[in-house]
Amino acid sequence: MSTTQAVQSAFTEVFSSSPDGVFTAPGRVNLIGEHTDYNQGYVLPFAIDRTATVAIRLRDDRSASLVSSHGDQGVVTVDLAALDPETLHGWTAYPLGVVWVLEQQGHHVPGFDLYLASDVPLGAGLSSSAAIECAVAVALNELLNIGLSPEELVLVGQRAENEVVGAPTGILDQSASLLATDGHAVFLDCRSRESRPVPLDLAADSLAMLVIDTRVSHTHATGGYAARRASCELGAEVAGVSSLRELTAQDLPELSGLLDTETFHRVRHIITENQRVLDTMAALETGGPLTIGELLTASHASMRDDFEISCPELDLAVDTSLAHGALGARMTGGGFGGSAIALIPLDAEAGVRAAVVDAFAHAGYTAPDIFTVTPGPGARRLA
Ligand code: ADP
Ligand code: MG
Repeated sequence: MSTTQAVQSAFTEVFSSSPDGVFTAPGRVNLIGEHTDYNQGYVLPFAIDRTATVAIRLRDDRSASLVSSHGDQGVVTVDLAALDPETLHGWTAYPLGVVWVLEQQGHHVPGFDLYLASDVPLGAGLSSSAAIECAVAVALNELLNIGLSPEELVLVGQRAENEVVGAPTGILDQSASLLATDGHAVFLDCRSRESRPVPLDLAADSLAMLVIDTRVSHTHATGGYAARRASCELGAEVAGVSSLRELTAQDLPELSGLLDTETFHRVRHIITENQRVLDTMAALETGGPLTIGELLTASHASMRDDFEISCPELDLAVDTSLAHGALGARMTGGGFGGSAIALIPLDAEAGVRAAVVDAFAHAGYTAPDIFTVTPGPGARRLA
């Protein structure tokens, strides 16, 4: 049975009628460009072949009933007329956050039944949250003929995450999920919000992208994320620029005299990471993915040493992958847990997997979840 059929029949079982439509949106791996999005800089994510899929049927009584295949919360029913960001919590904050933003923008949502099935791992740094927001945003946009562009839907999802869920994230996750094209990464300039596809054909070079989910949940890290944001804002203020995006490596000597040591390290990560994104994009366009390994690994070192958002499990995943044949490896996502990625030749895959499993067992860490991902298409209607 296809995902579409499975979600359709699960919907029908719960709600005793068939859905009006089925919509899907992917999680993402950020290839490179970490914490640069809210600094108006560059990012280079790709959509993965792990997706959140929603089946939806509209109703007109201002009620929403939602159920997820994940967990045992059962059907949650809410009165849309009484929707309030303050009282939304748990997983329904993601879909209902999107509804709230749409209504704030003047779009009327009459009511709906929704069934969600997702195979994006939760809290692994692969943006299971944005996948839900984007699937719901695309679904309501189409079923209600709202007419927002993908770029506008990005901002709807981001605002839901910021103002309803309460996570101060940038536009990276929703942009990857909504703007991606199959076999490509998405280069995104977060200042102009211009994006363009960058070829990422791993199979052509006999490569694979391994995700090593450390299963260290990053959800406890909201404070760390916000603290990094605050450091970046302080750095920009002291440097006298509107965002760290305005600075380049040439500014570093002067900045080291202006900023306290910690803030200088945070700022140096953002400046060098922006350059690495540009270098990675250029490398992909000229030499292909065989040529980006060192940039990925340099990005990890910067996050570990300057931005200090890695953790021992992520460092072990990266170091072990590199020692067993990875061309490059780095933690991906907001940090403090979640997943690492390793770019590996196909013939090294079995060896890297085994070595990482062994290293984690030897260190006494929880066994990691290891799987490959391929660059896939962005959010769309399935049925
Ligand atoms: P990430 O986006 O990196 O996976 P987040 O903490 O931003 O991590 O989002 C994870 C949260 O998203 C979960 O705690 C849960 O509330 C929600 N979520 C994700 N996938 C599902 C799902 N399939 N069913 C219910 N809730 C989900
Ligand atoms: Mg998230």
